Amino acid sequence: MSILVCGGAGYIGSHTCYGLIEQGEDVVIVDNLMTGHRGAINPAAKFYEGDIRDAQILDKIFSENKIDAVIHFAANSLVGESVEKPLKYFNNNVYGMQILLESMVGNNVNKIVFSSTAATYGEPEKIPIEENDKTFPTNPYGESKLIMERMMKWVSRANGINFVSLRYFNAAGAIESGEIGEDHSPETHLIPLILQVPLGKRDHITIFGEDYPTPDGTCLRDYIHVIDLADAHILALKYLREGGESNIFNLGNGKGFSVKEMIAAAEKVTGQKIKTEIGTRRAGDPAQLVASSEKACKILGWTPRFDNVEKIIETAWTWHKNHPDGYSDKK
Ligand code: UDP
Repeated sequence: MSILVCGGAGYIGSHTCYGLIEQGEDVVIVDNLMTGHRGAINPAAKFYEGDIRDAQILDKIFSENKIDAVIHFAANSLVGESVEKPLKYFNNNVYGMQILLESMVGNNVNKIVFSSTAATYGEPEKIPIEENDKTFPTNPYGESKLIMERMMKWVSRANGINFVSLRYFNAAGAIESGEIGEDHSPETHLIPLILQVPLGKRDHITIFGEDYPTPDGTCLRDYIHVIDLADAHILALKYLREGGESNIFNLGNGKGFSVKEMIAAAEKVTGQKIKTEIGTRRAGDPAQLVASSEKACKILGWTPRFDNVEKIIETAWTWHKNHPDGYSDKK
């Protein structure tokens, strides 16, 4: 049987495909390459260039391959953009999920692992955040992912599809070989932006706010390595194949690092001084987001391998140093 990975050319999707292939799985990828990269696709995977909102291509993929489960990454994921263009997020993410689920039901595929986010929680009521804490997204991106989770919940009850939703905290790092990595355009994420300074691509990094109620005044985030996220998807797949019921899991390291701590760690890893400037707060940024991943550890048997931020940054540095222009030199 094969696994269909929707969005397998994206950052977390491509790392998961590498992990699945390493474990001997047969992987089929569908990606519209709007934000994904051809160079991120594992050559051992079968690739369909197409959009999950196109029911015809999904039906074609399901009829041409023996697929027993779907891992779904295909979505837009920029918080700021989602505030400006909410309908883009409801169309691509929510409507995309509807078409995917319809096609799964029509083709008798009954397992799905879903790429969700800590943004479903919004401003946390307590730290660390647990799966049963209140979900009150503060931006359309988080809202779209929460709606997608709820769609799966109802379809699971009505049509017998079992799902696992994985709510990631801050995905970071790259495969240790440096073959694939993070490449967003525009880049908005902290670690790649910090590393652009020692790469000579940017003069300084702007710290978004120094007046948060945290020890050094900058935001705390829970950085989790992309390979650990990939492992969790593979374990979630195993869980569903073994008959596990629909479930939601947080994925993080359980420890918060401030923006200033991340910059200091990057200085250590790169051996270079990184110039900073203090800017204003970014709209919608909670002071801290830290996960409790106890549930994933207990039920999925997941243990993050990269629990050290310097090690995480080091893998990102290997990728960015070797590919300063991202995939443009790999295409
Ligand atoms: N951040 C920052 N400067 C930047 C980009 C990000 O200070 O140029 C901060 C941001 O405010 C947040 C943290 O770094 O507190 C992580 O941001 P990122 O966009 O990487 O992930 P998010 O937490 O939004 O998912």
